[in-house]
Amino acid sequence: MQQVAPVAPMPVWEMRPLQPLGQISDQDPDATLPLALCSIAFAHDANMLPSPPDLVLVSSDGVHFYIQSPVLLSASTNMFNALVFERKQTDTHIISVPEASAVINVLLHAAYLMSCAPYQPGARVLLDALDAFPSYGLSFGEHLAPSTPFYDAVQLALPDAPMDFYLIAAEHDLAPFARAAARHLDEFEVTQISEAQMQRMGVLYYNRLIAMLGRRASAVKQLLRSPPDGHPYSALCAEEDQQVLRDAWVLTASQFTTDLFKNTSSEVIVAQIRLLRSSLVCTDCRDAVTDRLQSLQAQLHELDQ
Ligand SMILES: [Zn+2]
Repeated sequence: MQQVAPVAPMPVWEMRPLQPLGQISDQDPDATLPLALCSIAFAHDANMLPSPPDLVLVSSDGVHFYIQSPVLLSASTNMFNALVFERKQTDTHIISVPEASAVINVLLHAAYLMSCAPYQPGARVLLDALDAFPSYGLSFGEHLAPSTPFYDAVQLALPDAPMDFYLIAAEHDLAPFARAAARHLDEFEVTQISEAQMQRMGVLYYNRLIAMLGRRASAVKQLLRSPPDGHPYSALCAEEDQQVLRDAWVLTASQFTTDLFKNTSSEVIVAQIRLLRSSLVCTDCRDAVTDRLQSLQAQLHELDQ
């Protein structure tokens, strides 16, 4: 199979001459301007709108983001943390913000309704950005609705922190987002849910999570019910030898089926079946487990969708 090389994340910033606000002028050759860390997406000459940027946000790590006030005003319910207002010519148009550039980059992409996916922000960055949503007056409901650019970018990070994202979904009653996060919670055991997490998700979303994990556990139980097919008895592998395989299968399956709320992630199930296969001496029995494993993997894949 042809290997597809992973695409590297786009860098958030680059070192550039620090342009003053206002129309780009040929009179200011770059050589005379000091170099600074500048956002690539929100560069002085990014031309995202017909109007030029009128404000510069500087992140805690010194990256300059050139922005257009009207965009932030329309995206935010609090004038982007009261940073965006009509300024006199003499007022400063360069404002420091406490967030790091990776987080500001995500917040601004959300405000501009652009996808931050090319930067491949990790779960931590996205969670920090979501933590900052209330400060900047951004709407959880608007940006965490399916098919929005921000929602799509978050999907890529869900497997890395599904419970954190589930809690945010629960707190803001975002059912589709909660379902998307919960699909990655199959490794989670119900007993691991802390008191604090239960309080954050509330009774409704706690019950929904339990019901979802229960449905998955029942489906897994069904998938593991039948052991692999036997093969014609031989001198090397008689009926009692094949019974050993069937017993081993039941024992392996019982790890996932006796307690409805145990870890039932597909990876763990497949790893356990492979372990069972490696313990078999008879090649025909091993082939039977290989066949069963193939169909099981396809069924688990379907369950994971
Ligand atoms: Zn055999």
